[in-house]
Amino acid sequence: MIRVGVLGALGRMGREVCKAVHDDPETVLVAAVDSEAAGETLALGDAPNGTIKVGEEIDMLSQAEVDCAIDFTHPSSVMDNVRWCVRHAVDIVVGTTGLKPQDYDEIRALIEEEGSESNVFIAPNFAIGAVLMMRFAAQASKFFPTIEIIELHHDGKADAPSGTALRTAHEISVERGEAPKPAVDSVEVVEGVRGGEVEGIHIHSVRLPGLVAHQEVILGGPGQSLTIRHDSYDRASFMPGVLLAVKQISHHPGLTVGLENLLNL
Ligand code: NAP
Repeated sequence: MIRVGVLGALGRMGREVCKAVHDDPETVLVAAVDSEAAGETLALGDAPNGTIKVGEEIDMLSQAEVDCAIDFTHPSSVMDNVRWCVRHAVDIVVGTTGLKPQDYDEIRALIEEEGSESNVFIAPNFAIGAVLMMRFAAQASKFFPTIEIIELHHDGKADAPSGTALRTAHEISVERGEAPKPAVDSVEVVEGVRGGEVEGIHIHSVRLPGLVAHQEVILGGPGQSLTIRHDSYDRASFMPGVLLAVKQISHHPGLTVGLENLLNL
């Protein structure tokens, strides 16, 4: 049994993750932490043992002898949590988005500096369909190098663009090489209307109530276009990927980024 602690346990993702860990026969939820816990009890299911008391301090992970932490908190908190786990030799699976390439460098350096046995696994998107969407978009980009990304999320999302959109742009740029010279030379009558540019790709972020997590990659060529779209309608779509990472992380030393590293694609 893998002893798991969830950081951000009272958030939209954290609550689902706590239940998924509780329900899986190979994992046991031994700690739940949230910054506004105030002694709240989280219901995990119908069984008599189906509740856990939520604490506010990350030190709870040590007291509960956690093997693997899962972080679904906030872009402003996640690096502190990763640092704590590396220093305390606890593995950590990170779903929180907003991390930058410099953060990855810092994590690698910290693991080495501390001689830590902690492994860190980060995935901007734990839905298997989203991983395939990114892969297919990167493959297609060799044939359709002119690309725009539209990502759509619920209105409570803390960061824009999404980690998935940034990752998609990066994978495309690795696959297609240099971005083509822009054929479009339109004047922005409204500032920012063409979206933000990342590695030569325009990203447009839509935030609306009712949405969960969605992305379209539109690839254009002379006389045709190809659209690759993925939709997460429910946070259940992320749970198999999160549980897979918890079960596999001990076999992946150091820092690993991307669920594709755990799948036989
Ligand atoms: P949310 O509902 O705001 O939940 C985050 C929770 O974490 C809140 O309860 C928050 O408390 C708490 N928190 C903040 N800092 C903390 C800390 N240092 N220690 C413990 N708890 C802390 O957000 P969400 O929708 O669940 O999303 C969380 C993150 O996951 C976001 O970055 C989102 O983009 C990402 N996400 C990733 C995936 C993926 O597949 N990788 C999928 C969905 C979402 P307060 O409210 O008091 O701040």
